[in-house]
Amino acid sequence: MFNRREALKSLVIGGAASIFSPNVLLAGTAKKKDKLGIALVGLGYYSTDLLAPALQMTEKCYLAGIVTGTPEKAEKWKQKYNIPDKNIYNYQNFDTIANNPDIDIVYVVLPPSMHKEYVIRAAKAGKHVFCEKPMAPSINDCMAMIKVCKDNKVNLAIGYRCQHDPNTQEYMRITKEKLYGKVRMVSCGAGYFDARTTHWKQSKALGGGVMGDMGVYALQGARLATGEEPIAVTAQSSTTRPEIYKEVEETMMFQLQFPSGALAACHTSFGINMNYLQVNYEKGWLKMEPFSSYLNNKGSHSNGIIDFPLKNQQARQMDEDCTALMNSTQLTAPGEEGLRDIKVVEAIYQAAKSGGTVKI
Ligand code: NAD
Repeated sequence: MFNRREALKSLVIGGAASIFSPNVLLAGTAKKKDKLGIALVGLGYYSTDLLAPALQMTEKCYLAGIVTGTPEKAEKWKQKYNIPDKNIYNYQNFDTIANNPDIDIVYVVLPPSMHKEYVIRAAKAGKHVFCEKPMAPSINDCMAMIKVCKDNKVNLAIGYRCQHDPNTQEYMRITKEKLYGKVRMVSCGAGYFDARTTHWKQSKALGGGVMGDMGVYALQGARLATGEEPIAVTAQSSTTRPEIYKEVEETMMFQLQFPSGALAACHTSFGINMNYLQVNYEKGWLKMEPFSSYLNNKGSHSNGIIDFPLKNQQARQMDEDCTALMNSTQLTAPGEEGLRDIKVVEAIYQAAKSGGTVKI
């Protein structure tokens, strides 16, 4: 009899067909590792405040190394996290990481315009790659990143932490199982007040602009809540602080049309605090607030509440991605998922510029 276990196994095998076996796990040894070693590239806010602390809680991976251009940071991290000298790199000698069996995964946590270069260098060094969102400023960059990982037989995961959050998974399930029928309308907002004036988020060359930064959360909210890919967009960009947002937009409003007829109205801003998702179905409703925070995402729907406990979202994300690498199963958010968003982001910029509707 084809039981549940065999069914699952065949799913895993089927799913594994398009991903690469984690060859680095076997480097120099026939034994698989219990925990994969991660090297963080770029020791700014997200690495320092979120990822490194989360890596103290993970079960399938640990903070094995760092890549930084600042010797003082290297010294501080070395002391704090007990990182051996041989696992500390700068941007010049980074490529020699290829010879380091302690490092299985390189996690790129740099400004978006730098993601492509470091994903390419990591893949060529034979390491699996985690890359922060937004994947890159252009479709071409994303495609080059996916290709280099394929060519070098390593896997690429995008840091879409919310996709690992059971509260996000619950609203996705409600749509998928058509609990309240078809989705009619999504409203979604993601933003915060950024008081900085000369950060990469305000620089076009470094991949700034709110659309790639916070906008992808609103876009993910709409895509995941409908379970569909948008086919057409309109958009409007604006700024209330033109002296700061000279090169990139401070605020973007965008409207999406989906194949089923569902519509989404989204906004994102570096000038407004907001974090909500609302879905109107044929026969019910769902609201999440917040919907894309690090913790305590929660909400309610016509017939219940959404409030699943979660200890640490980034730890869950990295553990799940490492489990997928160890078992050669599908990653939750592979490079192709990052590319899907950037296709829409490019269309949104075109629509904001032209004032018209852009088909995708
Ligand atoms: P940050 O500015 O705090 O850190 C960036 C790091 O890159 C710094 O250590 C900086 O020294 C280094 N760097 C190297 N070359 C640089 C250059 N030429 N210009 C500027 N910095 C340079 O940024 P961050 O907030 O940590 O964001 C890093 C990445 O993480 C971005 O892709 C961002 O979108 C992402 N991020 C994701 C989340 C999430 O929730 N998933 C949250 C925050 C940031």
